[in-house]
Amino acid sequence: MKVLTVCHKCLDDAIAKGRPAGPTMSLISPTDSGMLKFDCENSHTSYSVMQQLRFEVLFEIGAHAIFDNYYREAISSFASSLERFIEFYITLMCRKHKIDTKVFSESWKEVSNQSERQLGAYFFIFLLQEGRQAPYLPKKMIELRNKVIHKGRIASYEDAILFGNSVLQTVNPILATLKEQHGDLIQEIVFDHLFSAKQEYPNVPTSTSSMTTILSIMKESVPIYDLRDWKPPLYYTELSS
Ligand SMILES: [Zn+2]
Repeated sequence: MKVLTVCHKCLDDAIAKGRPAGPTMSLISPTDSGMLKFDCENSHTSYSVMQQLRFEVLFEIGAHAIFDNYYREAISSFASSLERFIEFYITLMCRKHKIDTKVFSESWKEVSNQSERQLGAYFFIFLLQEGRQAPYLPKKMIELRNKVIHKGRIASYEDAILFGNSVLQTVNPILATLKEQHGDLIQEIVFDHLFSAKQEYPNVPTSTSSMTTILSIMKESVPIYDLRDWKPPLYYTELSS
């Protein structure tokens, strides 16, 4: 998967000269920090931070992997997206209960290397929060993921679609509630993410870039429940060719 970037220097130059913006757009690979550094064809270097959180980007990578016929990789990315969503949920709920971020980090360190511990925390925080069992993958999907990730199963298109849809069915309803009830906390988390990504190049001007994603914290996004309905954005195919 690649993300769309625009050279602001080229764009500003084009606007100053009163002509339509030239070919200042390009597709580049997302990075772990979210910081995108790129050089345009006119040798300008731009720095931009992707607003999307890790679970949003990972799910998008999974969907693109299906589109590119890498079904095993799609399942692995969807599984990671769900794990990072669970981290997002736990982080948000701790903020809701006014847990200091430093104190939170200390506790997170105890679970950060073991996804089973994180899952346990999620189940019980959700239970305390909602008074019901936390939504999670059906048993069949857990088995599929384990076969793919731990036993080398060569996944089919159908496997990838079913698994991805199952993650959507787990995450989307929770995300909808969080967006409705805790928009302010989501904004805080995004702000912290942007701040931390900018630290990679603290002394250069950076812009913020945003993309439409399938799993999305954006209030206005319309949830997708069936990945068969999804196609990459038009600019993606145009700029890739
Ligand atoms: Zn440029």
